[in-house]
Amino acid sequence: MTTIQDNIARLEQTIRGRARLIAVTKTKPVPMLQEAYDAGCRDFGENRVQEMVDKYPQLLADIRWHQIGHLQSNKVKYIAPFVALIHSVDSPALLKEIDKQALKNNRVIDCLLQIFIAQEDTKFGLDPAEARALLQSPELDALTHVRVVGLMGLATNTDNEEQVRQEFRGLKMLYDELAAIQRPNVAFSELSMGMSGDYELAIAEGSTMVRVGSAIFGSR
Ligand SMILES: *Cc1c(COP(=O)(O)O)cnc(C)c1O
Repeated sequence: MTTIQDNIARLEQTIRGRARLIAVTKTKPVPMLQEAYDAGCRDFGENRVQEMVDKYPQLLADIRWHQIGHLQSNKVKYIAPFVALIHSVDSPALLKEIDKQALKNNRVIDCLLQIFIAQEDTKFGLDPAEARALLQSPELDALTHVRVVGLMGLATNTDNEEQVRQEFRGLKMLYDELAAIQRPNVAFSELSMGMSGDYELAIAEGSTMVRVGSAIFGSR
């Protein structure tokens, strides 16, 4: 049986510094997170607020916590004191709430806009026109406590590699287009795409952050 440490070492060898590895720790108990930490991981991704809030105080403070799952506005306040990056901003209203809670905590919270790229109707996200409109809206200037640093997307869960590649490629093209937008609180540097099954493809298409769960911790 391979250990968490083996899995991380193998992933880092494949990634070769081209992207940052976010260890997706949802449903996994704290001792497993500690193992990943001891193997060098400092970026942990959770998709449920309650789980992140429970685990956060049990681990060391130099961990960067990533909110990767759908985020309800009324839960932002629980993670606003410590979250490093919110990958799943899928509405202007949510961004506004993050700004409000960041202000209360006297910090600026980095965010990614989640873009809908899959041929599935179960996944959250903005479409390209909505993302463009958000980044060009005059109201964005008032949100002084958020910084939009890039995009995130989930490809279709399919064995069709060509389809997944096209979805990642489309997201990278949108990223390149939107990265040119000049606003005080927009500074693109991160493209979060790729999971256990498709991270190599995602990196080849320009991902800067891969969110990997089962390839580190085993199936859920
Ligand atoms: C669960 C999850 C992942 C990781 O999935 P694996 O296939 O286990 O690597 C990545 N991104 C999001 C948004 C997730 O919810």
